[in-house]
Formats: sequence, C-alpha cells, structure tokens
Amino acid sequence: MANDKGFTLWFTGLSGAGKTTISKIVEEELRARRSRLEILDGDVVRENLSKGLGFSKEDRDTNIRRIAFVADLLSRNGVPVITAAISPYREIRDEARETMGDRFIEVFVKASVEVCADRDVKGLYAKAFSGEIKEFTGVSDPYEEPLSPEIVLETETETPEESAGRLIALLEERQLIPAAQPA
Ligand code: ADP
Repeated sequence: MANDKGFTLWFTGLSGAGKTTISKIVEEELRARRSRLEILDGDVVRENLSKGLGFSKEDRDTNIRRIAFVADLLSRNGVPVITAAISPYREIRDEARETMGDRFIEVFVKASVEVCADRDVKGLYAKAFSGEIKEFTGVSDPYEEPLSPEIVLETETETPEESAGRLIALLEERQLIPAAQPA
C-alpha cells in the first residue's frame, strides 16, 4: 500500500450516465491490485455528509464543495478517491481542480438525456418529465459539460467494463496505480 499515490477521479455526468456503475468496477480493479480507494458517491453523500441539503443552486454548490473538501483531505494523504456526483456546474468543478491541482482528474461520464431517460434506473426521469420532480438536472436544471476533461467515457457506445478499462489505462500511463499482477 505504501506506493499509493493520492488522486481524485472526479466523475461528472447526468443521473443514470453510469457514474456509480463504473466507479464500482474501478474500485474492484484497484483492490485487486492492492490499492486503496474511497468512493464519495453523490447519493450516499446526500444521505449523511450533506443530509438536509436540497437541489437549489446554493445547496448543490455546498454539496459539491463538501465532496471536494473530503476528496482533497484523502487524496493529499495518498488515498485514491472517486467522486461520483452529478456536479453540474463547471465553476465548482474548476474550484475543486484548483484545490487539488495535479491530483484532480476530471472524468466526463457521457450519455445524452435521452439515453439516460431511456435507462431511467431510478424512475426519476419519468417524474422529472411529468413535473413531479422539479430542478432535475438535464431536464429542468442545467448541466454544464466539461470543456477539457482528462477523459470522456462514452457510455452510449462502450460497455461499463470498457469505460473502466480505459480509465485504469490512463492511471497506469500516469503511474498512479500499481501495475496489474501477472496471472
Ligand atoms: P449514475 O451513478 O451516473 O446516476 P448509475 O451507474 O446509477 O448512474 O446507472 C447507470 C445505468 O446505466 C446502470 O443501470 C447501468 O447498468 C447502465 N449502463 C448501460 N450502459 C452503461 C455503460 N456503458 N456505462 C455505465 N452504465 C451503463
């Protein structure tokens, strides 16, 4: 574990784009390589660290700033982190990038609103389109795509395993994770 280098994989993308799914595959792969990893999943954070916050711009920004704060604490102490929250606003993501410097790797988990709505994993898009849920990112609230992320995961055309594999390859290239053990 001593050779772990701290970094933050900052996942951003619409609800249902694949952030949670891909983060779990990356976690398994890193653990297989005896690397640590902490995931700060948006839904999980909203149940504890950010409990009580809503979806106004102010509350969303507070939520993301808290996630960035914890990701910075962990990653500067050598713990790899994945944050998996929508993080819709470019300005706040850029703030996190500034805080973490070269430990910050922005990962755009990309899928269109139409595809995410078709998947509708949590049944939220149906409610957003009917107006039952207000301020829903991509439907009735903004999502600002990253302008120059370190990597774009094309989840409409890749499998989750392929996306995770490309991300792992990037980490290997940057020598941020231990090499895979020979079988
Ligand atoms: P998010 O965390 O971004 O809200 P989830 O990971 O919870 O998204 O849901 C994504 C859904 O899309 C899952 O049901 C997953 O099985 C499905 N899916 C289909 N193709 C892909 C892909 N290439 N990458 C990630 N998820 C995919």
